[in-house]
Amino acid sequence: MNESWDAIVVGSGIGGLAAAAALSTCGRRVLVLERHAQPGGLTQTFQRQGWRFNVGMHYLGGFGPGETNRRVLDHLAGGRIEMAPIAGAYDRIRLPGLTLPFAPPRAALIATLKDAFPREAAAIDRYFDAVDRAAATMGTVFMARSMPGPLATALAWLRRREVARWVGRTTREVVQELTGDPKLQAALTAQWIDYGSRPSESSFGVHALVTRSYLDGAWYPVGGSQVFAHELRRTIGEGGGEIRTRAEVAAITVQGQRVAGVRLRSGEQIASRCVISDAGAHNTLRLLPSGEVDYGWAEDITELEASTGYVGLYLGLSGDVAQGGADTANTWIYESWDVSRSWDDPLNQPRAPALFVAFPSLRDPAHEPGPQKRHTCEIVALVNWSAFSPWDRSEDAAGMAAGAAREASYAELKEKLTRSLLAQFGEHFPALAPMVQFAEASTPITVASFTGAEHGAMYGLATTPQRFLSPALRPRTPIGGLLLAGQDACTPGVTGAMVGGLMAAANLEPRLWRLLR
Ligand SMILES: Cc1cc2nc3c(=O)[nH]c(=O)nc-3n(C[C@H](O)[C@H](O)[C@H](O)COP(=O)(O)OP(=O)(O)OC[C@H]3O[C@@H](n4cnc5c(N)ncnc54)[C@H](O)[C@@H]3O)c2cc1C
Repeated sequence: MNESWDAIVVGSGIGGLAAAAALSTCGRRVLVLERHAQPGGLTQTFQRQGWRFNVGMHYLGGFGPGETNRRVLDHLAGGRIEMAPIAGAYDRIRLPGLTLPFAPPRAALIATLKDAFPREAAAIDRYFDAVDRAAATMGTVFMARSMPGPLATALAWLRRREVARWVGRTTREVVQELTGDPKLQAALTAQWIDYGSRPSESSFGVHALVTRSYLDGAWYPVGGSQVFAHELRRTIGEGGGEIRTRAEVAAITVQGQRVAGVRLRSGEQIASRCVISDAGAHNTLRLLPSGEVDYGWAEDITELEASTGYVGLYLGLSGDVAQGGADTANTWIYESWDVSRSWDDPLNQPRAPALFVAFPSLRDPAHEPGPQKRHTCEIVALVNWSAFSPWDRSEDAAGMAAGAAREASYAELKEKLTRSLLAQFGEHFPALAPMVQFAEASTPITVASFTGAEHGAMYGLATTPQRFLSPALRPRTPIGGLLLAGQDACTPGVTGAMVGGLMAAANLEPRLWRLLR
């Protein structure tokens, strides 16, 4: 037993790193335990044949000078992470027969939408007003989550009408109330891939918060998303802490409703009176001992489902990609006006109903294309886990036989997905297709094996109204010294998870709250 850690953080995603770095800036020694070989969770990167790909980050909102996210990140990373603005449009929504550039400032986007839907001008104004109100109400929800129980209850009661109206209803319900035009409804909700639950399932609050974060422009971390782990590790080290990789936590130990430390899969026990979990809310519950803890508080959490999974396609290109049609905006390609459809049967259905296509190397001032003009393209298509569950590698997975046969059929599956997505990419970017030198697909199985995400979920728990109304999903738990960090404690997204980590740390070091004021 090693008693010397002020806190143990389970998981080195941006949420865990932010919690650990924040405590380190207050002089606490923190040990971060990560099951994977590399820190960073979904902000890690990987290399293939010299091309470097991000796993879970394409663009970030709210990093303008003086904005809260910027202030928080500068504090955590000592100002060492540089953000490059994405010039012009950050998203380009391509629907059949209509392409809409989403570019800052907000007035430009409003004008774009009104040009495309001139009869709906008043509805578009009402929509932006609703987005502002809902985002502000989400602020109230998170403020309540950070307060002690009675104060939180009082605030939630005072604001109950706004919360029910903006957070308690789905994106589809609110948007349908604002406009009866199904094409405008599709255009306004097309960005749901950014938070992983369909318009019919997601809270309008999360839709508002995420889409609004980009209205003043989007940002990209210079050097790619691995800079978060690199720089926050430095802050953690400066505070006397460390990150240990290949250190899977098998159990959180509890004595008398208070955490006592953790036990690693290797059997090693590490003591601390504070454990912050960035492993996701469901995974955290699985790590707690059964029988010794009153789990009544966690019932709401167990009822929540995971967000959607995705297939990723990573392309290494060589050539004049800008000439071939690549640029710094994300291109969202919808093959029909039904923007809610995901790729339900990717094994038999050759085309995905929607593709998200980004060229991250074009955004990164640190990227060196070299004489071969090397660039990256990252593509995402949303899928259901059920199509992939036969290849589930988790210990309790039933179904397909383990071993070589399963691995061979999984390799075949990945090949098939690579071919289908590459063909679809080629139809939309014909001049870029001949420049593709490398292609590899990932599946929800990949995500589950590398991050432990339940069902390979893209964004942790589904972003439903129930999730945001649950009083249990807050950093502080009823188990003394156990805190939740990351996206499940706040919202999906790199900044949501970072703020989730900071909120957990601020429960121990209240002076950190000032960063979120
Ligand atoms: C394809 C994709 C694209 C995305 N694009 C964007 C984007 O453009 N902008 C944006 O803001 N967000 C984006 N996101 C979302 C963003 O990446 C996530 O919301 C955020 O990184 C989640 O951080 P986290 O710390 O909560 O969780 P994670 O990053 O999942 O970290 C959890 C960590 O815990 C570790 N862990 C789990 N169990 C254990 C255990 N028992 N012991 C030890 N370690 C454990 C895992 O290995 C992992 O490292 C994207 C996500 C995906 C998948």
